[in-house]
Amino acid sequence: MEELFAVGAIDRDPVTAIENPRAELISVAFTSALIGLLSLGTSSVTAGEAAKATEAKFRGYKSLWVQLVDPASPLTERIRSVLVNRIQERCEVEFTALDRAECVISLAVRPGIGLEGFRIGDRAQGGVEIAGNDTRGLLFGVGKFLRSSEYGADEFLPSTWRGSSVPDKPVRGVYFATHFFNWYHVAPVEEVTRYVEDMSLWGINSFLVWFAVDAYNGIDDPNAQVMLARLRVLLKTVKDLGLDTSLGCVANDGYANSPVELRAERVTERGQALAAWMGTELCPSKRGVLELELKYCEEKFAAFESIGLDYWFIWPYDNGGCACSECAPYGANGYLTMAEPIARAYRRAFPKGKVILGAWFFDHWVDGEWEGITKKFNAERPDWVDYIMADGGGGAYPEYPLEHGSPGGLPMLNFPEISMYGMAPWGGYGANPMPGHLQELWNSSGDRLSGGFPYSEGIYEDINKAILAQFYWRQKSKAVETVREYISFYYSPAVVEEVSRAIGILAQNGFHRREEKDGATRILMTSTEGADEAFRLIAQSDKRLTPRVRASWRWRILYLRALIDSELSRHQLRVSERCNTAFKELRQLYHSTEQTGDYITAPRNIIGIVSEKNE
Ligand SMILES: [Zn+2]
Repeated sequence: MEELFAVGAIDRDPVTAIENPRAELISVAFTSALIGLLSLGTSSVTAGEAAKATEAKFRGYKSLWVQLVDPASPLTERIRSVLVNRIQERCEVEFTALDRAECVISLAVRPGIGLEGFRIGDRAQGGVEIAGNDTRGLLFGVGKFLRSSEYGADEFLPSTWRGSSVPDKPVRGVYFATHFFNWYHVAPVEEVTRYVEDMSLWGINSFLVWFAVDAYNGIDDPNAQVMLARLRVLLKTVKDLGLDTSLGCVANDGYANSPVELRAERVTERGQALAAWMGTELCPSKRGVLELELKYCEEKFAAFESIGLDYWFIWPYDNGGCACSECAPYGANGYLTMAEPIARAYRRAFPKGKVILGAWFFDHWVDGEWEGITKKFNAERPDWVDYIMADGGGGAYPEYPLEHGSPGGLPMLNFPEISMYGMAPWGGYGANPMPGHLQELWNSSGDRLSGGFPYSEGIYEDINKAILAQFYWRQKSKAVETVREYISFYYSPAVVEEVSRAIGILAQNGFHRREEKDGATRILMTSTEGADEAFRLIAQSDKRLTPRVRASWRWRILYLRALIDSELSRHQLRVSERCNTAFKELRQLYHSTEQTGDYITAPRNIIGIVSEKNE
């Protein structure tokens, strides 16, 4: 009998909480059990028969031409190159001339479809036309086209999807947490810029990155300059795709060498410590702090002047906040005394920019924050805020704004936690698909939102990002359908049933936490039920994929997750050689370095590796 742990244990582990600055916040009210839903539609046809049927009917084109209908611009050329590149890396077709190609794909901008929307239709002279309402719509239409096309070894079958589609939510962001030597921080920058393209194809139109001031001694610190250069490369890619760039600040953040006498208080009246505390935060109620915060922000505005910043985030907690009595209740008091002048300074630097005011973890440590800010903003709607960002922890959307409406009636965004939820270390076990959980979250709040920015610490939650991107695109979209579209596009249409079912099992067995006890490492899981079946389904599918897909990181992180769960299940949650080898491969996929914290990569230094059981 496997030793399982009670859900709820993760966030109270003092050791993990110290090693992992955010672990204490990760709520664990995990209820998804998606297997049944995900496997709806499973046919009785065996896998082999399905593959043969697919091969038999496959009749694609061997030569293509992608035509720009309108005069080319750098933006449309870029979109064209993304389309050509993605087809070329999937199948060996020839891109020839207009009059010699078996199939022509036209790209056009045709206003009137709806903001950022697209239409895919038959081209009058044969072939397919992808039309965007604007260049963004064209890019998103290319994404839909690519996902719904089919790829043979040397032939391409263009999408038969026809119709138009216009996004429901205007703000479809993603947050790349560029810190802690995670993948965003250390991967070759070409991989990360490529990933920006990948996400844009799912309809993402805004990218947020982070400059963690606490890691540096001022903006002139050489390491700070290295990071800023990297962030500029990433945001330049975003701009080159015609999309929005975002950066922000913790309202009371401080550099590592911030003045000690101006620092904030961490422990609240209730005796709770504010989360992810860096110790460099400043107290907004102390004289001179506002001037310092404005200086820090203005230095950042200057660092990104050449790129442009379309959104500016202002953040209350985690890290950040001040527990002193003068700042209380922080979110409705000390916080706002910093946030307003920072927002106005940003608007002076970027007059068209939009301000997103974070309400992350309001009422978590201090009562009266939601009520206080709602009263203030209802009495006088602030002219310095464009969006309120509300969320916290991952378990549920905050109740107050759902019950009482958004402060000042401002449009609301979410910040769904797709990375750390139920996982210690984060990404430690490979892919962490959470379709059921994300669907529940969305059902509770999606209709109140103007979009959001999923919180990402790496590539291992790639499926979750696709799910959120599609929720923002079409409010009524279903996570399980996005999972199937994802499998079909990135792996193969032939393995959709098996891999969907495996993902359902992996999601159900969700939580993982490393524990050292009695001289051995164990990886505790919510459940190990079906772990062997999930790995069997993944291993069977593996044999049917092309070499390119089998070797791709998107497949490996899923494969390794299924393998790890199965190995843990078979060895009483102890780590086998094979499991340890999988951890090592994950660290390589994440480009983890010596500096990458143990809380943010696959487990290392396992104690007591066990010998393998025979098959
Ligand atoms: Zn204070």
